[in-house]
Amino acid sequence: EAKKGGRNQAVSFTWSMKERFHRLHEIENGLRRAIENGELKLHYQPIFDLKSGHIAVCEALLRWDHPALGAVSPMEFIPVAESIGLIEEITDWVIREACHTAAQWPDNVRIAVNISPASLKSGGLPSNVIAALMESKVPARRLELEVTESIFLENDGQTHHMLRELQKIGLRLVLDDFGTGYSSLSYLRAYRFDGIKVDRSFMAGIHASREDQAIVQAVGHLANKLDMESVAEGIENEDQLEYARAAGITTVQGYLMCKPQAGPIITEMVQRRMTIGDAMAANVRRAI
Ligand code: C2E
Ligand code: MG
Ligand code: MG
Ligand code: MG
Repeated sequence: EAKKGGRNQAVSFTWSMKERFHRLHEIENGLRRAIENGELKLHYQPIFDLKSGHIAVCEALLRWDHPALGAVSPMEFIPVAESIGLIEEITDWVIREACHTAAQWPDNVRIAVNISPASLKSGGLPSNVIAALMESKVPARRLELEVTESIFLENDGQTHHMLRELQKIGLRLVLDDFGTGYSSLSYLRAYRFDGIKVDRSFMAGIHASREDQAIVQAVGHLANKLDMESVAEGIENEDQLEYARAAGITTVQGYLMCKPQAGPIITEMVQRRMTIGDAMAANVRRAI
């Protein structure tokens, strides 16, 4: 009996390895053509200012509709793009596309793009950013780069220099997923970030965890003291929204207000100057 079960297990293990290999292969090959074939799209998720209630920023999030595999998450394909040397091309496309869309928005709504560490390697980012801004006529102050703490792991001086150059031309720099990586307060001193996003894992259990409450409060306080904007990401219910507000967090993002949406929907939302209350009411109507 046991032997048989063991063999079945071994067989299914082999199959799943094979499947995983096949999938990785499909993703690698597909990615090379995804841009030309128009399979990549951006969705946008609003970030609301708690004081004014208005949309302050929209974050661009990659979506890939693979012809055979269907929707593939950026969590799966971004690391592959990094490993096969395609991330810079993808980042360049994302920045251009995001700026092109943001050109249609009111001047006080910013656009945020995620920048993975590997896309800083060859040094082409600043010129790509400048080209995208010039083409779209979006002013630099409306473009935010979201970087995670992992960007500092291979601190070769070049990264530091490049980020500084980008800040000098007026871009905003935001520290994403704060608290999950190698959170070092010295980064906050060295880079003068314009904003800091508290990772959504701290919001997930906040109603039950004194630790999470304390951490979110500390980040909110620190951000205020350093004149940085703070974002609580992953807000899914009203309790979390209240905790964020009470912690002095300045802006919020999450499914409670609005899931990531296609460009035209977001463009309509920002042109209509939808508030956090409007968005929540619309979400409730959709859920019914
Ligand atoms: P991120 O930058 O931290 O983005 C936030 C993720 O949380 C997004 O997932 C978003 O859809 C999701 N999210 C937003 N609100 C909620 C909520 O209330 N609850 C829950 N459970 N999730 C929420 P998504 O779009 O799957 O992206 C995942 C990650 O992939 C991003 O994390 C980012 O690291 C990466 N990514 C996405 N687009 C790009 C891109 O253009 N370039 C790079 N380098 N990375 C990207
Ligand atoms: Mg992000
Ligand atoms: Mg994040
Ligand atoms: Mg994240």
